[in-house]
Amino acid sequence: MLQQVNGHSSGSDAQGRESLREDLQEFLGGEVPLHQLDDLTKVNPVTLETESAKGTSASVLRCLQARYTADTFYTNAGCTLVALNPFKPVPQLYSPELMREYHAAPQPQKLKPHIFTVGEQTYRNVRSLIEPVNQSIVVSGESGAGKTWTSRCLMKFYAVVAASPTSWESHKIAERIEQRILNSNPVMEAFGNACTLRNNNSSRFGKFIQLQLNRDHQMTGAAIQTYLLEKTRVACQDSTERNFHIFYQVCTRRGLQLPRCRAEMAPGLCRPRLPQNPQLSPPPRLPQICKGASADERLQWHLPEGAAFSWLPNPERTLEEDCFEVTREAMLHLGIDAPTQNNIFQALAGLLHLGNIRFADSGDEAQPCRPMDDGAVRTSALLLRLPEDPLLETLRIRTIRAGRQQQVFRKPCSQAECDTRRDCLAKLVYARLFDWLVSVINSSVCADPASWTTFIGLLDVYGFESFPHNSLEQLCINYANEKLQQHFVAHYLRAQQEEYAVEGLEWSFVNYQDNQTCLDLIEGSPISICSLINEECRLNRPSSAAQLQTRIESALAGSPCLGHNKLSPEPSFIVLHYAGSVRYHTAGLVEKNKDPIPPELTRLLQQSQDPLLKVLFPADPEEKSQEEPSGQSRAPVLTVVSKFKASLEQLLQVLQATTPHYIRCIKPNSQGRAQALHREEVLNQLEACGLVETIHISAAGFPIRVSHRTFVERYASLRRLHPQGSPHAEQATLRALLQDILHTLPALEAATPAAPAGATPAPVHCGRTKVF
Ligand code: ADP
Ligand code: MG
Repeated sequence: MLQQVNGHSSGSDAQGRESLREDLQEFLGGEVPLHQLDDLTKVNPVTLETESAKGTSASVLRCLQARYTADTFYTNAGCTLVALNPFKPVPQLYSPELMREYHAAPQPQKLKPHIFTVGEQTYRNVRSLIEPVNQSIVVSGESGAGKTWTSRCLMKFYAVVAASPTSWESHKIAERIEQRILNSNPVMEAFGNACTLRNNNSSRFGKFIQLQLNRDHQMTGAAIQTYLLEKTRVACQDSTERNFHIFYQVCTRRGLQLPRCRAEMAPGLCRPRLPQNPQLSPPPRLPQICKGASADERLQWHLPEGAAFSWLPNPERTLEEDCFEVTREAMLHLGIDAPTQNNIFQALAGLLHLGNIRFADSGDEAQPCRPMDDGAVRTSALLLRLPEDPLLETLRIRTIRAGRQQQVFRKPCSQAECDTRRDCLAKLVYARLFDWLVSVINSSVCADPASWTTFIGLLDVYGFESFPHNSLEQLCINYANEKLQQHFVAHYLRAQQEEYAVEGLEWSFVNYQDNQTCLDLIEGSPISICSLINEECRLNRPSSAAQLQTRIESALAGSPCLGHNKLSPEPSFIVLHYAGSVRYHTAGLVEKNKDPIPPELTRLLQQSQDPLLKVLFPADPEEKSQEEPSGQSRAPVLTVVSKFKASLEQLLQVLQATTPHYIRCIKPNSQGRAQALHREEVLNQLEACGLVETIHISAAGFPIRVSHRTFVERYASLRRLHPQGSPHAEQATLRALLQDILHTLPALEAATPAAPAGATPAPVHCGRTKVF
């Protein structure tokens, strides 16, 4: 519902400006600083109703721009909060004092729009005595827009407001759990985030965190679920980007000077450790000079200063995220002790050396490729505690089962195949390590099921993506966004409908089309893009990218969401998403979906003597039977798409059982500069985050609603009436004035009866408390 928010800027003498401001408030639900209204005054409020969505989004854009210039970063828009990334430190905006102010406010929605309003509203809903319902906050936006920042701030908010322990003993317990939950951030970010072209600290996975609350509404635990880690980054990085932060962290020297710390930008968000009792001593500040690995450790991990690793591009670009000490402290706090940490870092060093293994063609198909540097093989085997010869053998030689007897043949791999196997080995280890870390974090922060009753879910999920080259990753991400958009639209329509019902307005959005057609195209049965890609995997037949394109285009030709694919030099297909059309390239799609892991690689890792790798790759009791000739009865391996679809469905089930709240993060410019808003870029994001869709929905019903009082105050002058003492006018007087204005305006005369469902709505309807 469009909320009205009281502004902080004081009153104005210009009645027209005030009216306009209110109209925009009605529309955006946020206040517009009056001194910024010059540009906005050109917008005629009456035309907002009839303006095309494009025109409306332009006025929304102007409003956001005005607010951004005035350092107002949050704006309500219908049932969503639009968050503009300030790209500069605004510590006062995230101070514990401000958190408490929002928490204590009788009506937080009357304070300036803020993520804390959403946080507090959500918290009040779970505390509702009548019917506490689990809540969720969906934070979306493109890379670098501020999703992770926002989620982190919300976690911090709950750590402050949802922990009001009474005794010192319980205080300690509460603090421990909150601090552990907060500590999950630096660990997850060290292992799951990387510096990309669009964001220095880009999350390369999706995350849903469930903050668990007990009967007293205190945070007692959390559960984290991750989605689609971009594991290819371990072995393959764009020359302008970097590998996951943790690889740089293990390589940092002690005493490394880091850029400005995040702690300074948003105090308390990334601190190594809180003191046991915050009243006793001030919280320590993150040191500017971070401790990296010690000389002994670097020696042990074979990471001498100046060593070059091909999987470590741009090591000279030091980031604040490179603070090894923060990660270690946080890991320790989560129960990952120093020896286990040592195993982890040693294994990561092993992967870096693995990446330095290069092969040269032997020139003879029957002979395996030669490693160009024996040292890399040796060190990598040493650090991963693998036998050296089998490691080399596994990378260079493929075992194939063939014939009736399923005989095992050994075939030397080509140079390219060796590289693929090396990369696959690294991805396999890293993905298992990441999953293991998540499970360790979960066991450290998850509360006993009996100790919590409600939860607040925070979803930090990759926004809609459209690049010059889009593949399976983008298909999955955009599929997830379509699902979330459908969930949002359903919620928004329901909320609109409820308000109409309360106001006695019989109007239904029967004509409104959601994005089901697009979802049918992507995931529907029996035939959809997903099913066709899966089928190619299952049939395991050699098929070209062009063949896949033809199959998709012919089998799904009837779908209005499949775009016309003309003049494409590369095999591809186009999907018309709600946020825009995206061309997906079919080359490599099937292979990516299979994500094949040669069984020899897993078997090799099961031979490791490293205690960590032993946990990650436990000896398979079935292994013996796999060696047997009867390999046919093996369970089918799930494809990437199938796994993703299953986890997405699970997520939506959880979301559907909650009251959702939406925060749309917007990146004002792609350079990460403060005080610069690029209209075109922002408009694209407004479209991609569904804000334009929200306007469409509004326009399908009654986009503007004004309280009876406001309506009378604003339009009384048209009838030369004087709304005597208007702010305090008696309800009866108000009604009379309202009817008078409504009935004497010819354009509005015929409009008051309720519109039948499905018809075009009458331009004006008088509800119980509002004029629509
Ligand atoms: P996303 O998760 O959407 O990719 P991040 O949350 O990592 O984006 O934000 C990218 C960067 O933008 C952060 O590292 C930080 O520098 C900056 N940033 C985001 N939100 C804020 C904020 N509210 N205040 C100050 N800086 C911010
Ligand atoms: Mg992120």
